[in-house]
Amino acid sequence: MPTTRTLEDQIWEALATVKDPELPLTVMDLGLIDEVQMTGGRVHVRMTPTYSACPAIDVMRQDIRTKLLNLPGVEEVQVELSFAEPWTMARMTERGRTRLLEHGLSVPSRRSAEPVTCPFCGSTNTALENPFGPTLCRAIYYCRDCRNPIERFKPPPE
Ligand SMILES: [Zn+2]
Repeated sequence: MPTTRTLEDQIWEALATVKDPELPLTVMDLGLIDEVQMTGGRVHVRMTPTYSACPAIDVMRQDIRTKLLNLPGVEEVQVELSFAEPWTMARMTERGRTRLLEHGLSVPSRRSAEPVTCPFCGSTNTALENPFGPTLCRAIYYCRDCRNPIERFKPPPE
């Protein structure tokens, strides 16, 4: 393949490989990247974190820096966290939502306060078992019908 890809294309491709360490998703699936600006060899990335307290953000930030600095022509990378507009589930791509479901994680709908649906049997007869799941970003529910524990991606408070 000839090198018709611009540096900007390569940056977006690299960003699409940066994964959330706690979820089977990339920063692109989550819709975290707001903007990429290039000035010469300097790249400025602005991202909106899912949760300001989520330790995964620092891991992803570092991964973005490392991956972009590996691209020829990139000399400096700044990753700025933006809190201007809070992240919401609406930013997650369809691919991201599908991947969460494939991994057996219940996905909150774009509207909050809906019952939790069991990813195994589809029942909504579920109960919150542990609001503090294995990570800050997950909660554990229990399905009263098929008796499976359900891991749920925890949406940020609204
Ligand atoms: Zn069930």
